[in-house]
Amino acid sequence: MANSKILLCLAHMSGQEMKYIQEAFDTNWVVPLGPNVNAFEKDLEALCEQGKHVVVLSSGTAAIHLALVNLGVSRGDEVICQSMTFSASANPIVYQGATPVFVDSEADSWNMDPNLLEEAIKDRIAKTGRKPKAIIPVYLYGMPGMIDEIMEIANRYEIPVIEDSAEAFGSRYRNQLCGTFGDYGIMSFNGNKMITTSGGGALICPDEATKRKIMFYATQSREPMPYYLHKEIGYNYRMSNICAGIGRGQMTVLDEHLAHHRHLCDRYVELFADVDGITVHLNPDERYDSNYWLNTILIDPAKTGVDYETVRQHLESCDIESRPLWKPMHTQPVFAGAPAYVNGVSEHLFTMGLCLPSGPCVSDSDVERVAHEIISCCKR
Ligand SMILES: *Cc1c(COP(=O)(O)O)cnc(C)c1O
Repeated sequence: MANSKILLCLAHMSGQEMKYIQEAFDTNWVVPLGPNVNAFEKDLEALCEQGKHVVVLSSGTAAIHLALVNLGVSRGDEVICQSMTFSASANPIVYQGATPVFVDSEADSWNMDPNLLEEAIKDRIAKTGRKPKAIIPVYLYGMPGMIDEIMEIANRYEIPVIEDSAEAFGSRYRNQLCGTFGDYGIMSFNGNKMITTSGGGALICPDEATKRKIMFYATQSREPMPYYLHKEIGYNYRMSNICAGIGRGQMTVLDEHLAHHRHLCDRYVELFADVDGITVHLNPDERYDSNYWLNTILIDPAKTGVDYETVRQHLESCDIESRPLWKPMHTQPVFAGAPAYVNGVSEHLFTMGLCLPSGPCVSDSDVERVAHEIISCCKR
């Protein structure tokens, strides 16, 4: 089967998942709580270290939403969010009736530019008389960002940080897990992410009391009374015990998945080494340890004689899936009018970048086929 379709990033089962799901059925724990939920949370807490507490939820988007709810973000507030990201980073800000304020990226990691972040904070205070309520940096395609600088600024202005680590499960910065630097961190287990629960997410919380409060919001804010008493608006955001069983099975192969994503990155680097005008996005220095969830390249049309969209269409005609980089939020029609602090980096990257097939379902020969087809598009 030389020419089967090569997809961007497919779910890949360890074989252990069915055991945990069977246990759930055998014991009739087919509900959004139970032994798999508790054990999956313990697995994730062990991965996080730092004394963090983890709540598993129905999605990564729900995790961002509940962090904002717990920080008291409401109508009229502003929340700073990285502009170059998936819309799910910013949508929950609007669910709360607040306004996103977008901040551009720096060119090394492609993530939030700390200088621009501080400029944005100062300018929002000058213009509105109030501080933004939270900061949401993102780790695109698994690449860590300049989190030390971002935390220093956030601490100086006393603004809480929610790290959107949805794409960076298992990535590390200075050997510390991404998502554990800020007040909150979010994980996603959607079908296309590093590990999957078919759909799901988690919120990394600073302490046990916060974890309990997040669980309260995630289960309809029910007060501890025999009858149903509610003093706050609640949500139905808890993870199912069946999904958590998938998550437990996936955790058994996390290290193998990480190793394979990184191995494919090395292969792409080798295959493009002699191609002028194609660069693989790599860890900027030794502090960064990306999971390389999606391997991404920049295609310089001036040097290759071809633009990313022509390459993408050629790959599609060869049954190879690829995808442009995230279109910056400050250029999205739905967020038109939101304040934005930009430096041109994200818009520039968007005109040059392509995400390539990555992950456990992609073989070495698949990567060779992908690289061969891309190189065939370039001028000699
Ligand atoms: C996938 C993703 C999310 C949302 O996670 P879901 O589990 O799909 O809700 C948030 N932010 C980023 C950057 C993502 O890639």
